[in-house]
Amino acid sequence: MDEIQVTLPDGSIHSYPAGVTPLDIARSIGKRLAKDAVAARVNGQQVDVTRPIFEDAEVALITIDSDEGREILRHSTSHLMAQAVKELYPDAKIAIGPPIENGFYYDIDVDEPFSEDDLRTIEDRMHKLAEEDFQVKREVKPIEELVGLFGERSEDYKVELLEDIRENQGDDSASIYWQGAFVDLCRGPHTPSTGWIRHFRLLNTAGAYWRGDEHNKMLQRIYGTSWPTEKELEEYLHFLEEARERDHRKLGKELDLFSFHPEAPASPFFHPKGTVIYNELVEYIRSLYGQYDYQEVITPQILDVELWHRSGHYDNYQENMYFTSPKDEQRTYAVKPMNCPTHALLFAGQKHSYRDLPLRIADFGRLHRYERAGVTSGLTRVRTFAQDDAHIFCTFDQIEPEVIQLVEIILNAYQLFGFEEVEIEISTRPEKHIGDVDTWDTAEELLKKALENQGYTYAINEGDGAFYGPKIDFIVKDALRRDWQLGTVQLDFMMPERFDLTYTASSGKEERPVMVHRAILGSLERFIGILLEHTAGELPLWLAPVQCRILPITDTQRNYAQLIHQELTAAGIRTELDDRSETVGAKIRDAELQKIPYMAIIGPREVEHETVSLREHTLGDRGELTVSKLRDLLVEHIDTKQQMNHKMKEDQIV
Ligand SMILES: [Zn+2]
Ligand SMILES: [Zn+2]
Repeated sequence: MDEIQVTLPDGSIHSYPAGVTPLDIARSIGKRLAKDAVAARVNGQQVDVTRPIFEDAEVALITIDSDEGREILRHSTSHLMAQAVKELYPDAKIAIGPPIENGFYYDIDVDEPFSEDDLRTIEDRMHKLAEEDFQVKREVKPIEELVGLFGERSEDYKVELLEDIRENQGDDSASIYWQGAFVDLCRGPHTPSTGWIRHFRLLNTAGAYWRGDEHNKMLQRIYGTSWPTEKELEEYLHFLEEARERDHRKLGKELDLFSFHPEAPASPFFHPKGTVIYNELVEYIRSLYGQYDYQEVITPQILDVELWHRSGHYDNYQENMYFTSPKDEQRTYAVKPMNCPTHALLFAGQKHSYRDLPLRIADFGRLHRYERAGVTSGLTRVRTFAQDDAHIFCTFDQIEPEVIQLVEIILNAYQLFGFEEVEIEISTRPEKHIGDVDTWDTAEELLKKALENQGYTYAINEGDGAFYGPKIDFIVKDALRRDWQLGTVQLDFMMPERFDLTYTASSGKEERPVMVHRAILGSLERFIGILLEHTAGELPLWLAPVQCRILPITDTQRNYAQLIHQELTAAGIRTELDDRSETVGAKIRDAELQKIPYMAIIGPREVEHETVSLREHTLGDRGELTVSKLRDLLVEHIDTKQQMNHKMKEDQIV
């Protein structure tokens, strides 16, 4: 028999008889590997672990616990689900079933949407099919024959896909996979048998148009998740439960923070309590502006379309812009999607010398961007928002110190909000760019040097910069270990050209400044959404819409409670008085549900002592203290913004 040479990932070369399978290779290496190998890469291409190899090749086994392995497991789980569905609903037609992050889905054409009960029934059947441990067998057949096979089974979507393969890809054959009597058109690879698939759950359903086109039929999409071990499945389900609990759209309703109305799609209405959070964030950022020498401006929201031609937004961004023209004026305006051009106009409107630089202009201006209905979501993707936006006009030599200062501001801010883990990424020159390569190289070096000199580690996104300059992005991990990009620092060599911005250098010559776009929290709307999920709505004291709620036990204490309410309010503490005729137990429960950091309980004893009994959210009773002590404690903790979790230390109270 012919021998072939197999190169393994460690570079070692081994001889095997031609026709050896990746599984045979795994067995020759070790039992454990053979047990875990779900598929393989042969010359870079994913194949089934049982696919014979006839020529010299590079072979890498894919184990079930790798990212690739999990993806193959999930894809196979979608097949298993389709098999179960076809057994339970013989008239169902199956469309496509790819793996997705942490799971999979399958689009199925059925008359009635699946109910929660249906999902459990399908799951049970899947477990039974997994126990039967069908071999998953690959076959390659001429398209013609497959059209017959799937046509006979009334799988119209598969027939359409086959015709696509023939016409658009020019292939005259395709692969199918059998497991028991079930067959699916698929490129593979798959788990060697259905017995590999044990730890899965069907999660939910949604309508989905065939091929994402609303002119096509609406199919039923079933989403599920699948993992190599029960432990991972449990962990993931727990994560989903946590994420559901923390969903900012749910919290926004429960805590009465914001709502959405069909009259303004994807545009939040902030209620009084949500507005408190919003304004506190603005005030916090504003406090940094004093400290770091920024000047805040207010610029128009509606500007002549000519400006957007000049800035390049019209050519590159018009799909996301709103346009308007008044009835009486022959002039078209655009609603600003970003502040940059208005700041460029401000800079251009005055003469500047090198002594004025760096000039830092900040703007909380309201922005509007048209986002398709399919991508908007709660506060995290909206059509109207404000950023903590600023533009810095500086000389090339000032880029480095500016970047150092910005990184400091940004990281301090994230720390304040309890984002402990921050990743920094530099995105470099993309293929399509303006400006000469030397300038780009120097600028990229400056960014890297600025970070390195401060001891920050960073990743490089090669070629991922904006076409007008390199940038640094800041990505935080939230409490559920999800990544969110918040801040950004972008160098821009283009806008100063387009707006012909100049300053007088020390030599007396007119020079071009560099423009730096930067945001710390980014969109404030989005930041609130992220912060609500990160904190599960347990906002730090300084951000809490209600900081202290006063709970008289009976009507008899109402007057005293009102006095305390006035005293705390006068000290700038956001206080509410709950004088409903409910039991104190019910009032406490209510305040806990509203996640109010402090509750001041007042009964006959407190009136007599001129004190309150303090309760802290989730921590319970914190003892009796005088009103002035309570006031001072709250004021101090609010002013210093010192805690993320409004937990007062024991010794501060007693
Ligand atoms: Zn498939
Ligand atoms: Zn900008």
